[in-house]
Amino acid sequence: MNDGNNYDVLVIGGGMVGLTLACALGQKTDLKIAVVEALEPGDIQPDDDYELRVSAISRASQQVFTNLGAWDGMQARRVSGYEHMHVWDSTGSGVIHFDAAELGVDALGHIVENKVTQAALLEQLHKIENIDWLCPAKVATIDYHEGSTSVQLEDGRRLNARLLIGADGASSRVREAAGIHLETAPYHQKGVVCVVKSTRHHAYTAWQRFLPVGPLAFLPLGDGRCSIVWSAQDDEANALVAMDEEAFCRKLEQAFEYTLGAVESVGPRAAFPLIRRHAEAYVKPGLALIGDAAHTIHPLAGQGVNLGILDAASLAQIIINADSNKQDFASYGVLRKFERWRRGENMLMMYSMSGFKNLFSNDRAELSMVRNFGLNLINNLGPIKHKFMRHAMGLEGDLPELAKCTGW
Ligand SMILES: Cc1cc2nc3c(=O)[nH]c(=O)nc-3n(C[C@H](O)[C@H](O)[C@H](O)COP(=O)(O)OP(=O)(O)OC[C@H]3O[C@@H](n4cnc5c(N)ncnc54)[C@H](O)[C@@H]3O)c2cc1C
Repeated sequence: MNDGNNYDVLVIGGGMVGLTLACALGQKTDLKIAVVEALEPGDIQPDDDYELRVSAISRASQQVFTNLGAWDGMQARRVSGYEHMHVWDSTGSGVIHFDAAELGVDALGHIVENKVTQAALLEQLHKIENIDWLCPAKVATIDYHEGSTSVQLEDGRRLNARLLIGADGASSRVREAAGIHLETAPYHQKGVVCVVKSTRHHAYTAWQRFLPVGPLAFLPLGDGRCSIVWSAQDDEANALVAMDEEAFCRKLEQAFEYTLGAVESVGPRAAFPLIRRHAEAYVKPGLALIGDAAHTIHPLAGQGVNLGILDAASLAQIIINADSNKQDFASYGVLRKFERWRRGENMLMMYSMSGFKNLFSNDRAELSMVRNFGLNLINNLGPIKHKFMRHAMGLEGDLPELAKCTGW
């Protein structure tokens, strides 16, 4: 299909996940692709202050971006590698410490502003001739039909697609138009995020302290400051955002046990509701959901977008294979392979995160003993510890070719 507003693949949502899929498909096929994105993504200038929204990018996602040619652009903007991960429990002596050197790598992962990832992917996308970037353009209505779907944009344009991809985030219009039910479990918590300066350097470590209410993470940034994610009950999170800077800094350094000394300054704060969501189905004939449109998880292990990147890489692989074998890549049979592949992997991570959250958000003495014992045990058992480290780096599980060092 290659005429006018008719597309083989129409991706709704040009966030990190939608762009990853579009780049992968565009680089390996001649399919006619369009990406519809509502908001013009900004770029990062060297003098810009750090953005509020950052993600811990796993080694697996880094490999995907490297294979797509985007990692250089991300590094040229700015990424902050972390060599250590230090996790401890506020109610006991349990500690776990991961060190990149133990696995012979230079970094366990990188803290990257979402805007940096999006800008670098977009740079690659613009090099691909068979992709139309429709931005700013917002979806008005979606008329989903097996075989061909019609999408009306708010500016009046009508687009038709053999395969419609929902990469449009947690409130996905695509998911809604396809009538796919969403299983929702609110944590009744918000993640408070901001950039802070402490008196001590972060030592290239991703720090996480488990408080009874939820985890508090200090993620290292390139200039020595940290981006924090502080999970707290809804009303407490609102209060943390509303309180004056001085009071917030004092409360934060206490909650973090002065691990990086005093907190000297804090940037603008925002709070994001934390909700576990999982779409009942990822695919229908001629339609697939990826990233937050299919699932959202607790940010305690920083895995949300990493799961989405692996969704995109896996779906791309399946479509590319089907297309090269002259199969109908939009058929239910082909798309189901993607669903079977990714649903299990995502569920494992989602329920592990919920389990961790429940285990740690509890100050009952017996649970405290169990988790402190568990943390210390893992920390002291080499092979199990290495397995955990590889999980945290996104290197375990059934990885798509794009996430492997070779083969793309
Ligand atoms: C506090 C917090 C901390 C987090 N930390 C981490 C972390 O450390 N590591 C990690 O892996 N993940 C983290 N996450 C999760 C991560 O931010 C998300 O998983 C990720 O942003 C999802 O990417 P996405 O591309 O699927 O969706 P989104 O980023 O939501 O992108 C969707 C895109 O679709 C566009 N769109 C939506 N509707 C329409 C429409 N109708 N028409 C046109 N365009 C549309 C939007 O403008 C947007 O650009 C965190 C989340 C939170 C809340």
